[in-house]
Amino acid sequence: DLADVPLVVEDLVKTYKDGHRAVDDVSWRAERGQVVGLLGPNGAGKTTTIRMMLGLIRPDSGHVYVLGEPVGPGSAVLGRVGALVEGPGFLPHLSGRANLHAYWEATGRPDEEAAFEDAYAVAALGGALDRPVRTYSQGMRQRLGIAQAMLGKPELLFLDEPTNGLDPPQIAAMRPILQDYAATGRTVVVSSHLLGEVEQTCSHVVVMHAGRVVAAGAVADLLSSDDVTVLDLDAA
Ligand code: ATP
Repeated sequence: DLADVPLVVEDLVKTYKDGHRAVDDVSWRAERGQVVGLLGPNGAGKTTTIRMMLGLIRPDSGHVYVLGEPVGPGSAVLGRVGALVEGPGFLPHLSGRANLHAYWEATGRPDEEAAFEDAYAVAALGGALDRPVRTYSQGMRQRLGIAQAMLGKPELLFLDEPTNGLDPPQIAAMRPILQDYAATGRTVVVSSHLLGEVEQTCSHVVVMHAGRVVAAGAVADLLSSDDVTVLDLDAA
C-alpha cells in the first residue's frame, strides 16, 4: 500500500531554461526507519531533486508521492514533511528561540513548549538561543535550521547539505540525532557530496552523477561490493 511508503520518486526529469538537463529520469523510494544519503558531486542534481520532492519546483515529467499522496506546489501532505533547504530564511533581529516559535505559529499548530525542548537540544545553542540570529555563525544557523525542520517530528525529513558550516565535532554530534530520529519509524533524506559522511551517517544511499542515479541501496552492501562508481565519486 503506497500510503505506508514515506517517499516514492518516479521518473523525474527537470531541464532548466538554458537546456541543461539537471535531473534525468530519477527514480527511487525510501522506507520508514531509513536515513538515506543523496550522494553526488556538486552539480549532480541533488538540490534540484530535493526541490521537486518538496513541491518547490515542478518536474517536466515524473511524480513524487509522499505517504501515498502526489506532491506538487501547495500539496497538503507537505505538512507532514520537514525540510532544510539552502539558505534558511530566519528573521535576523529575532532570537533563535523566537524564530522557532514564529515558524511554529506559521504552521498553525498549538504552541506547546514540549514540542520545542527537542529542537533546543538539536540546535545546541546554549545561551545564544536568546541572542539575535544575525549574530550567529553559519554553523549556528545551520543547526537552528535542522532543529526547525524537526519541529513537530514530521514523518519525512529532507536536509540539503545539513553539515555545511559545521565543524567535525558538530558533524559527529548530528549523526546520532538523525539516526535516532529515523529509528522512531520516520525517514530522513540528507544530501551530501562527501562519501565518508554518508557512510557514517546513513543506512541507505542514492548516488547521483550528472542528473542520473548511478547506484542505490544499503550502505553496507554498496560499500562492501567494490563498487568503483561510488569510490570514484569520492575522488571527484
Ligand atoms: P550542489 O551541491 O552544487 O547544489 P547539486 O547536486 O545539488 O549540486 P543542482 O543544484 O541540482 O546540483 O544542479 C544540477 C545542475 O543544474 C547543475 O549543473 C546546475 O548548474 C544546474 N542548475 C541548477 N539550478 C539551475 C537554474 N536555476 N538554472 C539553470 N541551471 C541550474
